[in-house]
Amino acid sequence: MSDPNIEEIFALIPKVTNGEKDLLQGAYNFAKKAHEGQLRNSGEPYFTHVFQTAKTLASLGMDIKTVMAGFLHDTLEDTETTEEELEKEFSSEIVTLVNGVTKLGKLKYRGAERHLESLRKFFLAITEDIRILIIKLADRLHNIQTLEYVKPEKQMRIALETIEIHARLADRIGMGKLKGDLEDAAFPYAYPKEYADLEKIIKEKSQSNKNDLDEVSALLHKELEAQKVKVLKIDQREKHKYSLWCKLKAYDMDINKIHDIIALRVIVKSVEDCYRVLGIVHGAWRPLPGRIKDYIAIPKPNGYRSLHTTIFTGNGGIVEIQIRTAEMHEEAAYGIAAHFVYKEHGKNKDQSEKKNMEWVEQLKELQKVIGEPEKFMEHLKMDLFKDRIFILTPKGDVIDLPEDSSAIDFAYAIHSDIGDHAQNATINGKMMPLITKLKNNDIVTIQVNKNAHPSSKWLDYTKTTMAKKHINVYLRANSLLAKFLSFGK
Ligand code: MN
Repeated sequence: MSDPNIEEIFALIPKVTNGEKDLLQGAYNFAKKAHEGQLRNSGEPYFTHVFQTAKTLASLGMDIKTVMAGFLHDTLEDTETTEEELEKEFSSEIVTLVNGVTKLGKLKYRGAERHLESLRKFFLAITEDIRILIIKLADRLHNIQTLEYVKPEKQMRIALETIEIHARLADRIGMGKLKGDLEDAAFPYAYPKEYADLEKIIKEKSQSNKNDLDEVSALLHKELEAQKVKVLKIDQREKHKYSLWCKLKAYDMDINKIHDIIALRVIVKSVEDCYRVLGIVHGAWRPLPGRIKDYIAIPKPNGYRSLHTTIFTGNGGIVEIQIRTAEMHEEAAYGIAAHFVYKEHGKNKDQSEKKNMEWVEQLKELQKVIGEPEKFMEHLKMDLFKDRIFILTPKGDVIDLPEDSSAIDFAYAIHSDIGDHAQNATINGKMMPLITKLKNNDIVTIQVNKNAHPSSKWLDYTKTTMAKKHINVYLRANSLLAKFLSFGK
């Protein structure tokens, strides 16, 4: 069998320099030698696995060191290689990355408790260097793509773990493409029957859908040209199968209620052009009410930006159109990784990176606040995996909260003093009790009163760790004070 060709990786790195090629070749050679003689379950040389991992990382636009670490990620665990050797041959940064991945552990499954344990490790890795997580996700992608060679009794568990943990983490850091690829590779093993059903449904539906799209696409091209909007690209994107399945479940399995199995994607140069295109689309076709989404003005919690609208094609069809800039397009696919491309750490931080980094910062904060590791994990799982909602302050600041949060959570998210003295909430201009559940995009103000204080009842109406923690601190202090004051009475 011939060796994997490193040129394939060079080709994925824009403007790759000779110096970088040497570094990558060095990692390639080192890994090849270290894994000499080892085989994968598939019978292929083990090196193909680390090569594919490095290749995925290059395709995600990761920096050179991360791609190198992709080659080397299994050397500490599976070969004779020592940390000292890695450091001498490469650098301490490479050792940190490889070590981080090694600590995340191999595929060993011990059910739910193992789940929690691997989650805990993930979060430790994220807070150390987010690139460790990304290497692990690339590693998992190749493992799940070669799952057919794993013992059948293990396949389903590995597939489920991939969907429940790895894909969600990829989503949380905005790496939409990686998330979709992980889920789609795991889907047939995790839910075989459902996967087969879906295949059948798609086959019937997508042909008619495609004809509609071709027609709309041609017309739209003409229309935009006439209005002199410069379009970089119009293409059709097929929805990832697993996410289509999830959507179907939410719509009573009625495929006719889903209009974005294949969507039309328009890429333009500027934000201004995005809105112009939206106007032109709505001028040419009638939009479905309630389906116009402005994720540019209000991005999704993971940073996703785009305009979405769904239109009646005029001959019975319904088509979704997504409009975005090239930059938004990159970000939607690569998330956090989109910002690693030849950017020095700490430089060029733009809005969405800051948003992602804020989340990592919050994790670190949370870890400090909650001393006990099990409790930390429990809360984290809740905070992270719940769907998020965006709440606005009257000034337009956005507070990101878990679904079903109340005005109490919002108050504590602003400041612990506001939470501790909250009396009422004004939600979309109406005075409401603090325990009111908030909905996405609510505009909320909290009225404070220095005599107002948390009550134990609040604990039943809060979702966030921060709020619960502050309420508990207040209640504990207060009961101690009460005991103290009633002493001797
Ligand atoms: Mn591996």
